[in-house]
Amino acid sequence: MATHPVVIIPGDGIGPEVTAVALRVLEAAEAPLSWVTHKAGIAALEDGGDVLPQATLEAIEHERVALKGPCTTPVGKGFASINVQLRKRLNLYAAVRPVRSLPGVRSRYEDVDLIIVRENTEGLYSGVENEVVPGVVMSMKVATEVGCRRIAHWAFRFATQRRRRKITVMHKANIMKLTDGLFLQEAERVHAHEYPNIDLETMIIDAGCMKLVQNPSQFDVLLLENLYGDVVSDLCAGLVGGLGVVPGANIGDRGAIFEAVHGSAPDIAGRDLANPLALLMSAVMMLNYMADEREDPRCKQSADRIKAAYNKALADGCLTRDLGGDLGTRAFGDAVIERLNG
Ligand code: ATP
Repeated sequence: MATHPVVIIPGDGIGPEVTAVALRVLEAAEAPLSWVTHKAGIAALEDGGDVLPQATLEAIEHERVALKGPCTTPVGKGFASINVQLRKRLNLYAAVRPVRSLPGVRSRYEDVDLIIVRENTEGLYSGVENEVVPGVVMSMKVATEVGCRRIAHWAFRFATQRRRRKITVMHKANIMKLTDGLFLQEAERVHAHEYPNIDLETMIIDAGCMKLVQNPSQFDVLLLENLYGDVVSDLCAGLVGGLGVVPGANIGDRGAIFEAVHGSAPDIAGRDLANPLALLMSAVMMLNYMADEREDPRCKQSADRIKAAYNKALADGCLTRDLGGDLGTRAFGDAVIERLNG
């Protein structure tokens, strides 16, 4: 049977542990995939290479799909974020992060079902920083008409395909009148000209955060520039059980990388404590993406089987420690595999 090659990047910290579980589950669910493993981040450095080896980039460009564990980003100094470099070099301009309440996972809310669409290549993530004079430093926030329009188009098209009804743009255009003003203006323009059937709501981000915490079920699709998308993703993860349960995709016109919202969590790495669910959910997103892109219904079948199995495992009380249970990383993977056949 033909398989689709997928690049696997195990990553750093808890990355290798959660990736191993995801691969075991994908195999047990007979996903029609084959793996091409490449390194990035500290793992690649330790191998004596570049943090982002050319071979890794070329493999993703060639296969056009990757499943990636988190890569550690040094704080305050050291190399630039691998995650950000990958998104920019491959032009993966749309980050998509579905945030949903899950069966059996206790959290403050029971009916959250929202999708974050984050612009992934501009804003304060331009990486343009300099010291103006000693004691004065500057970071540049960049917004382009092309970039703002592109993500607005992507979000409205996505919302239409998913039968979503409303997009909420969160911004700070009252203060950053040019950059956030452009982001807002392009969303309004795309809405008015092409997608009047979807509701567009605009909200200043600080008020939006308060409303998210007060009543998250009022939101449907959120459209945010890069930094706000980063921060609000973790806020929203907190609404449904934490970073262990929120998957993500970085999508461009020529490929996609699927990865969890969480980072490499070095505090719990190598101890069988990490929740592999966020990466497993990202793998399900990848299968659904491939079912469409490669027109292969086998991908959708495997995705449905895995999703049903992890929902059943959660509902049966199979929980990792971050969710209040006592299962280790591998044992959670076993619990999902046991439930693949209904
Ligand atoms: P990085 O520097 O790679 O961003 P980080 O530790 O700063 O890593 P995260 O990994 O995103 O940031 O997570 C913050 C904390 O949340 C972690 O220290 C960890 O305790 C917890 N956490 C994150 N992901 C998971 C997970 N999959 N399972 C359990 N706990 C997690």
